[in-house]
Amino acid sequence: MSDLTNAAVPFPIAAKAAVQDTQLRKNVRHATEVIQGKRARVVAEMPAWEALREAGKAIREHTMRYLDTYLLQFEENCVRAGGQVHWARNAEEARRIVVKLALEASAGGTAEVIKIKSMTTEEIHLNQSLETAGVRAYETDLAELIIQLGHDQPSHIVVPALHKNRQQIREIFRREMNLPELGESPQDLADAARMFLRKKFLEVQTAISGANFLIAETGGVCIVESEGNGRMCLTLPKTLITIAGIDKVIPRFQDLEVLLQTLPRSATGERMNPYNSIWTGLRNHDGPNTFHVVLLDNGRSDVLADRVGRQTLHCIRCGACQNACPVYRQTGGHAYGSVYAGPIGAILTPQMLKMEGGESLPYASSLCGACYEVCPVKINIPEVLVHLRNRVVEKKQQDTSLLMNPEALAMKTLSAIFQDERRFRAAQRLGRMAEWPLTRKDGNGEHWIGWLPGILGGWTQVRDLRAMPKQSFREWWDKTRGVQASGNDR
Ligand code: SF4
Repeated sequence: MSDLTNAAVPFPIAAKAAVQDTQLRKNVRHATEVIQGKRARVVAEMPAWEALREAGKAIREHTMRYLDTYLLQFEENCVRAGGQVHWARNAEEARRIVVKLALEASAGGTAEVIKIKSMTTEEIHLNQSLETAGVRAYETDLAELIIQLGHDQPSHIVVPALHKNRQQIREIFRREMNLPELGESPQDLADAARMFLRKKFLEVQTAISGANFLIAETGGVCIVESEGNGRMCLTLPKTLITIAGIDKVIPRFQDLEVLLQTLPRSATGERMNPYNSIWTGLRNHDGPNTFHVVLLDNGRSDVLADRVGRQTLHCIRCGACQNACPVYRQTGGHAYGSVYAGPIGAILTPQMLKMEGGESLPYASSLCGACYEVCPVKINIPEVLVHLRNRVVEKKQQDTSLLMNPEALAMKTLSAIFQDERRFRAAQRLGRMAEWPLTRKDGNGEHWIGWLPGILGGWTQVRDLRAMPKQSFREWWDKTRGVQASGNDR
C-alpha cells in the first residue's frame, strides 16, 4: 500500500479552489520567478550545459538498467563499512522499521528524533507514525520546520514552504515559539529557528535523514543542503537512520562530478550547495555509532517495469520542472494532492499508485514542454504524460461498460463511422441537419456553432466551432466529374 496522496480530490477541483487564493498565487509566482532567474544565470555560465545534461541522462539510464546489481553492491559496501541495510516493500513496512529503530535507540531515554529534510519520509507520512508510537520528531530544515509548526503540507520538493511569504512565516513562529515581538526580516526568522533548534541538536540522540544519492561503489550516502542543519544531524546524534527510495542509487563516486554540477544549479540556482555531506558506514569516535539505511520500493519497481514511464525514476528531485511549469505556477503544489507536485508529481504519483489514484494528474499539464527543457537529466516529461493519459483511458475502458462511459462510447461510434464510407456520408448529412438550429452567421458570412448540448458542451465553453460545410470536398469532386457517389468504386 502506498501513502503517496494526502487527498482524493481530483486535480481540476483542487486547482479551481487554489487559483482563487490570490495570496497563494502571488507567493508561488514570486518564489518560482526568483529561483528561475537564478537558475538561468548560473546555467548560462556553463558552455557545456547540454553535454552535462546528456551525461546526467546517461548515468541515470545506465543505473536503471542495472538497478538490482547496483542496489546489492550498495548494500554489500554499506554493511562492510559498518552500516545496517533494511529493505521495505511499501510505506507501511518502512514506517514499521523506522519506528522500531527509533524506539530501540531511545530505550531508557526520551523518545525524540531530529530530522533532515526528506521527501521520502513525507511520502510515507513518517512523522504521524512516529507520533503515534510516542516518538517526537523535530524537523530541522527551516522550510520543513515552517511546515511542521504550521500543521501544513509541503508544496514543492526543494522549497516545501514556497507557498508562504515572510509575514505568514512570522505569524507561525510567533504563535508556535511564543515570540510575540518577532520581526519579519530573514535574519529575524532565521535567528528564531536557530534558537529553537540549537537545543534539540545538542540533546536529541537519534537523527533521521533522506538521501540525494546512494553510491554503490563505496556504500556511501550523499546529501546536499544549504543551511548546515543536516551536517549537525549527521555528526551529533548517536544513531542515524537514513531512508531512501531505491531509485537514489548511482554506480560510482565519480558520477557525482556530473550530478553535483547540475543539481544545485537546477534546484536553487547555486553553483554548488554550501553543504555537501558524504558518509560511509561508521568511524570510531566520529559521528554516530549506529547507522541504518532503509531502502524503500513503494511502487518504484512497477514504474521501472514500464518501458516509457521508467525514465521518471531518473529524477534527481531538483524541482526545476515545478518552477518552469505554467500550471504549477498558478495552482501551487497542494492542488496535486501528493507530496510530489508539479510535472514530476504528475508523472510519478499515478505510476507509483499503479494508476489506482491520481488519474487526473497526467492532465494537469498544457504539454508546453517547459519541464523537459529545464530537466537536468532530460526526462521527457511530456512523452510520459501522454503515455499515462493513454493508460488512464485504457483503464477506464476496462473498468466500465461502454454505456457507463460516454467518452468510450463516442470513440467506438466514431470508429465505426470512419470505417465505412456510406456510414460516413450518412453521418455528415445527419450532422448538417442536427447542427443547423445551433449555427449562427458572422459578419463574413461564415457559420459557427457557439453552444453544444450535454457532455459536448465542454468544447463550446471556451471556443466556437466552425459549422460543417454545406458540401464536402468529395461531394464537390463527384459533382464536378459527374460521377454518382456510390461508395463502392473507391
Ligand atoms: S523531473 Fe527533472 S526537472 Fe523535475 S525534479 Fe526531476 S530532475 Fe528536476
